[in-house]
Amino acid sequence: MKTADLHIHTTFSDGTYTPEEVVKEASRQGLSAIAITDHDITDGILPALKYAAKIGIEIIPGVELSCEYNSKEIHVMGYYINWENKWLQHKLEVFQKARERRAYHILNKLRDIRVDIDEQMLFSMTSMGSISRMHFARCLVQSGYAKNHKEAFDRFLGDGCPAFVRKLRITPEEALSMIHRVGGVSVIAHPVFGGGHKNFLKKLKNMGLTGIEALYPHHSPAQTKKYLKFARELDLTVTGGTDSHGGSESESPIGSLKVDIEAVESLKKARKIQEEKNKVILEHCPGKDES
Ligand code: AMP
Ligand code: MN
Ligand code: MN
Ligand code: MN
Repeated sequence: MKTADLHIHTTFSDGTYTPEEVVKEASRQGLSAIAITDHDITDGILPALKYAAKIGIEIIPGVELSCEYNSKEIHVMGYYINWENKWLQHKLEVFQKARERRAYHILNKLRDIRVDIDEQMLFSMTSMGSISRMHFARCLVQSGYAKNHKEAFDRFLGDGCPAFVRKLRITPEEALSMIHRVGGVSVIAHPVFGGGHKNFLKKLKNMGLTGIEALYPHHSPAQTKKYLKFARELDLTVTGGTDSHGGSESESPIGSLKVDIEAVESLKKARKIQEEKNKVILEHCPGKDES
């Protein structure tokens, strides 16, 4: 049976494996296809594609966007996005710059409580792309301020903690239209962390949502059952992935959750439909060509 992992981070966001290492590991785990889904950045896609061409593994270009809904953070995955599109890249740069500014706020807030982490250490970890609280968590552990990442989030970085700073977040509507505009298909990520209510999913489905990440390492069997039921009732594609952030520190390494390749076929079909829709839009308002 051919399988896929549709949620993986690389060193271009907060993963610890380079795109090449991700592909190598995926191949070792016997996966036929993987999606590169970094936070707010697509720079890991090309190196993964290049390396994968040598090994014969399929790469699905992706991205993970952070949104806000009812004061909660929810994540939306974009698959098969035209990652070379200039308009998309400009949008993602805005998110990355906002992340950088937020990092300085977090550093200041940590200093206020006499937690002094080495700025150079922090920025050397993220020289390739999107900086996230995960990098802070790693620095806090390495500098002895926290035993592990969980403690770093529980004591310093999490919502309501002394060094918490909100991220620039868009609305789910904006995320969907951004993904669809560049030919991609949208999937709600880890619904258990937010966005998993049926009415909300129905609303997103009406805005063109393709799928739901029902298969996720942190979903209990009961939660998985519930999301599979929502997927059936709302005619959403079931996807899944490990949300792997790399090697040793990752709770869910690449290959620890595998979805049937059918999920990939289903995303491809949805992508064709999205491309057709975009063609119709372009025919009717040619000025909308943003690339
Ligand atoms: P950010 O996008 O900068 O807010 O960083 C959040 C990232 O930290 C997520 O993408 C996860 O990879 C990681 N993370 C690990 N543990 C937690 C936690 N307890 N709460 C939030 N994020 C966490
Ligand atoms: Mn992450
Ligand atoms: Mn996420
Ligand atoms: Mn993720």
